Amino acid sequence: MEKTFTIGTKKFVLDEDKAEQAFAAKRVINGWETMTFNLLPLKYHWAYELYSTMKRNHWEPEDIPMQKDIEQWQSDNQLSESERWIIRMGIGYFSAAEGIVGDNVLHVVRELVTAPELKLVLGRHAHEENIHADSLLYMISSLGINPHECEAMFEQIPTIRRKNEFVTGVSRALRRDLDMKDPESKKLLAKNIFVFGQCMEGTQFYGLFGMILSLYRQNKFPGIGQMFRYTLRDESNHIEVFRNLFMDLIEENSEIWTPDFREELTDLMREAVALEKEFIRDCLPVNTVGLSADEFDRYIDYIADRRLEGVGLSPLNVGVANPFPWLAELMDINKEQNFFEGRVTDYQKQSALAMAPDDEL
Ligand code: FE
Ligand code: MN
Repeated sequence: MEKTFTIGTKKFVLDEDKAEQAFAAKRVINGWETMTFNLLPLKYHWAYELYSTMKRNHWEPEDIPMQKDIEQWQSDNQLSESERWIIRMGIGYFSAAEGIVGDNVLHVVRELVTAPELKLVLGRHAHEENIHADSLLYMISSLGINPHECEAMFEQIPTIRRKNEFVTGVSRALRRDLDMKDPESKKLLAKNIFVFGQCMEGTQFYGLFGMILSLYRQNKFPGIGQMFRYTLRDESNHIEVFRNLFMDLIEENSEIWTPDFREELTDLMREAVALEKEFIRDCLPVNTVGLSADEFDRYIDYIADRRLEGVGLSPLNVGVANPFPWLAELMDINKEQNFFEGRVTDYQKQSALAMAPDDEL
């Protein structure tokens, strides 16, 4: 018996028995693994859909002009010391953080999951971390910041080091031979996916994102701000990838979803929030125009609670309102018609052309 499967505009005819067998063997972990990348039939549709969205969002750092940023950076009177410090912290922190995320995606999570469509979207995720790392190189070279200074920040600033240790610990825990049928190993993976997706990319990235976009809103660092907006749009997809992965992992391995484990995860988020608040004090030692550390604390509380709710956990606070409603709008760049000037639009056009022959089949 033959059966037709559809993915977007593409159609495939598969042998029904073989397709059902392949489908039944697909699991987040401990599934059937072959050397062939058998995407069909799709089981985790969200993974393929997010992969397609991420592909459409493609951008390249060099497409964004940095002239204005360079001019501001070099001038004596256009910036305050605290504004310069935020940019240094942003570049210093993300230079290494992007690499840590990409490395964990590729060498831990993508290694352990077994369904090909999950590997597909995780490959794209890792690639986007490369783009982010590359965009930071572009900022460093444009502004003429010494790269060693950025590396040193990651080791010498205690609040950055603590954020780093918090995430690398859950990554290291999985870098050895583990029996993934053992519930303790499954918990280590669930913890990793939760910490990287919801605590780090989902919460600890948002302090600096907010500060840099607040400067951008005041027409400071337009190039850097624009790159961070693209990055943020990518991050929101990464958070979604890891959230879905987490939910499916738990659904297929529900024995680990115990009250104790839920409490452990909630405690990890509590720790992530505390680390982020310490870090915010380092970024904003004095309040500057439009930037108050107290408001950023509240913002982090607000974001962290949304992340917890997203994976079915109770929030840490009751009814914290978003202190920065303008930020949500700046983050939602899909709304803007003319934001993608230049090549980003071209990538989209090219992929639309590439799709055309398929449509006619
Ligand atoms: Fe990133
Ligand atoms: Mn990311």
